[in-house]
Amino acid sequence: MRGHSHLLVGLAGYLLLRSEATVAPFVPSVGGPDLPVPTALSLTLALVAAGALAPDIDHPDSEIAQVWRGSFGMRPLHALAWVVRFLFGHRGVTHSAWLTGVVAWLVEGFGVSQWGIGGLGASLGFGMASHLLADGLTRAGVPLLWPLPWRFGIPPIRALRLRTGGPGEHALVTLLTLAAVGRVLLG
Ligand SMILES: [Zn+2]
Repeated sequence: MRGHSHLLVGLAGYLLLRSEATVAPFVPSVGGPDLPVPTALSLTLALVAAGALAPDIDHPDSEIAQVWRGSFGMRPLHALAWVVRFLFGHRGVTHSAWLTGVVAWLVEGFGVSQWGIGGLGASLGFGMASHLLADGLTRAGVPLLWPLPWRFGIPPIRALRLRTGGPGEHALVTLLTLAAVGRVLLG
């Protein structure tokens, strides 16, 4: 899926799940003793958004690779994306389930030990997981067990999945976004 699709799927999915009473207790959110609620919510959404874009750091043309323009027009993430793609290929290690888990766990541990704030890694991990799920809906699938070669997808029959950037992707993203906006506005 494209970057803006990932962003919308991650954020819309998050808001929908969080507004569903039965699953809301299992949906991560940032929180700490001295953290005001609006700040915590903003941090949560920012991390979900960052996580939803992060796995495509293995492609120089991705949205995440364009963020952060440094001095002299340098784009550090763009350079990083070249290196990651050279070493691991597009939809390689950054699209594995285990790396998602490790990154979430490390960030979570850092947030709790350094600032006493929980949910940083879990919120980031939620966004990353939404990326893998969304890419899993497309023809190419995702190598969840990288470096093992199997690519997983939903549904398992490849021909039934979405084409990246195709009309199915747009329809799905639009529906999900409308559902989330409706849910947030109407309660
Ligand atoms: Zn991807």
